[in-house]
Amino acid sequence: MTNRTLVALAFALGATVATSESSAFCRSSTIRGAAGECSTTGVPLMWCSACTGLSLNTDGSIDIPFETLKTEATSAAARWSAEVGCPGETMDPPAFELRVIDDTRVYSGINHGGPNANAVWFNSEWRLDTLHRMGTIAITIVSFDRRTGEILDADVELNQRTDANPAGFVFSTGMPMPDTADLPTILTHEFGHALGLGHSDQDRAVMWPTAGMGESRRTLSADDVEGICDVYAFDRRPSMQCDAPGTTTRPNLVCNDTPYGGLAPAPDGGRAVGGCSVHEGISKPTRARWWLLGAAMVTLAWRRRPRAATRVA
Ligand SMILES: [Zn+2]
Repeated sequence: MTNRTLVALAFALGATVATSESSAFCRSSTIRGAAGECSTTGVPLMWCSACTGLSLNTDGSIDIPFETLKTEATSAAARWSAEVGCPGETMDPPAFELRVIDDTRVYSGINHGGPNANAVWFNSEWRLDTLHRMGTIAITIVSFDRRTGEILDADVELNQRTDANPAGFVFSTGMPMPDTADLPTILTHEFGHALGLGHSDQDRAVMWPTAGMGESRRTLSADDVEGICDVYAFDRRPSMQCDAPGTTTRPNLVCNDTPYGGLAPAPDGGRAVGGCSVHEGISKPTRARWWLLGAAMVTLAWRRRPRAATRVA
């Protein structure tokens, strides 16, 4: 293990932030940082299994064919797993992956005690609130165990332009197009949040918090790789963070991509969109213990592209 790895590990155990000349990534935490800043308190968030499934909402997009959405989502997920080699002798990929599984009609929210879907969907009714802000291209809502930081659910909403939502965005794939949001870039960024990363302060990183129209930033930077490997480095799993308190139970390291509580093909328990509320007293059947849940909201905002710049970064 290199000194760099040890430093990253110390950051992970001590708090949530890794900031140095070589690493500027940020891990999402059970306690949000001040606006625009990485949290320095709380427990860093992470999934405690080896994989989970993402489901596209069958509403799809008015801009992009459904099969193309599925292809782009699959590619964006792979950028954070199969295409990454974490530092070390064997350059193993991160010990967790997102997989695109069966479609759903579920939107955002977590259904306590019932089936769920980690939904990816296009929101054409972007009603402004503390989560859905003007100028935001997409958000990811992460539900987690407030005590351990275990992520239980993550939903990605894309702010789609429609007649009813004229302030939304037009999404495109293929060659980046002016005046459109590059869907591969946006999905890759949001999936970083779904995996437990916050925003980087390195402007070439996928996890940089803003994107210009027509801007493509699909490839992970070295900082992004450091970030995801900090969360899921193969040689550091299983993590103490994922142990059931007071036991020696280890997380299930076999990939089971079924979402928390089972895959929900349709909303079950109501459409719960957003809210940074804290829910207490939730039973997770598989472990039969009480959970404290919180929700984190992370966004990718639109940045107006300066006329002369090819890339604002
Ligand atoms: Zn973001």
